[in-house]
Amino acid sequence: MRPGGPEPLNPRRRNMQANRRRDTGPERAIRSALHAAGLRYRCDYRIDLRSGHRVRPDIAFTRRRIAVFVDGCFWHSCPEHGSNPRTNSGYWGPKLAGNRERDDRNTAELRAAGWAVIRIWEHESVAEAAEKIMNVVGRSSAPGSAGNVRDRNDDT
Ligand SMILES: [Zn+2]
Repeated sequence: MRPGGPEPLNPRRRNMQANRRRDTGPERAIRSALHAAGLRYRCDYRIDLRSGHRVRPDIAFTRRRIAVFVDGCFWHSCPEHGSNPRTNSGYWGPKLAGNRERDDRNTAELRAAGWAVIRIWEHESVAEAAEKIMNVVGRSSAPGSAGNVRDRNDDT
């Protein structure tokens, strides 16, 4: 899925963040699957990194320090579907490259701060994505406590 619709071609950086903030279909579906599996997490939890950068993972397990990002194929240049838009490529090229760089930088900084980072493409199936996440959550949990996470402020 690519946001082809009414996205104004406005060369300001905030544009993309506004887009990101919206609850997209895949994100919501993954959250529901995790919730159904008994996991509790936070949405759009803000993490202030030492560098001064701020990130808001789509899903965060704050105690276990696991950050999950559901990346749109278009915005984050998925190798399978991230095409280089023909129209206005002078604008999109650098913009998408910038997104990519920021993704890498955030991932690296989060890891340096002790977070496990999981990146999921929006084209992945919900089951696949949920399994990926649960594997990491399970691995990091105290024995026997998987599915018993009680992070507060769960908003689903
Ligand atoms: Zn894709």
